[in-house]
Amino acid sequence: MIGIICAMRVELDRIRENMEIREEQECSGIHFYLGTMHGKELVTAVCGIGKVFAGICAQTMILMYHPDMILNVGVAGTLTDKLDIADIAVADKLVQHDMDTSPLGDPKGLISGINIVEIPCDERIVKTIAECVHELHMNALVGTIASGDQFVVDPSRKEFIVREFSGIACEMEGAAIGQVCYVNQTPFCVIRAISDSANEQSHMDYPEFVKLAAANTANVIDLFVQRIRIG
Ligand code: SAH
Repeated sequence: MIGIICAMRVELDRIRENMEIREEQECSGIHFYLGTMHGKELVTAVCGIGKVFAGICAQTMILMYHPDMILNVGVAGTLTDKLDIADIAVADKLVQHDMDTSPLGDPKGLISGINIVEIPCDERIVKTIAECVHELHMNALVGTIASGDQFVVDPSRKEFIVREFSGIACEMEGAAIGQVCYVNQTPFCVIRAISDSANEQSHMDYPEFVKLAAANTANVIDLFVQRIRIG
């Protein structure tokens, strides 16, 4: 089974259009939709905004359905001139840019307990997603996606994320889902279409481009589900 988590309805609606939904179940305030796409079993959910809701959703999904993999799909702000509005950022690793115990001598972004800064994505999933975006002639970049509980518009924050973590895109959920998948040993990846430039224009760009961005990721997911081998 493939698990798909989006933060917002607008991000999941287009994906669900290609899915035959069989059943809906609710747990922890989250609605899980079970069904198939191209003959493969899927469980999808809208988790809500930010790292805590994302973590709740990922852990609940794993305990209830034991998915073979989890994809976090949605929109993000770009941190590089190589990614423009509607282009695709594919994570090969995730960081939490607002995790900071550096006053105690730790590296910035260190997740104490598992003691890593970068949460690695599943290589096979990353490779398959990269092949799909190439086949769809989309402009895409593979790299580090940075998550934090803030909508990034401040240039100095953007510079910090690029300098410290070499982030290519910023959003608010991916690394929380990544942390949950890491501790549960569930393969995962994050795929985000660019909705804004993470700058003073973002509050204008974001509402305008979020639907276009969501449509692009839905096309990637449709092809990915056809291509990926499960089990
Ligand atoms: N109250 C709004 C909040 C949206 S937050 C609502 O409920 O719709 C923006 C969402 O888009 C988050 O899920 C985040 O992951 C993503 N996102 C897009 N651009 C972003 C940016 N520049 N910085 C951080 N997150 C961004």
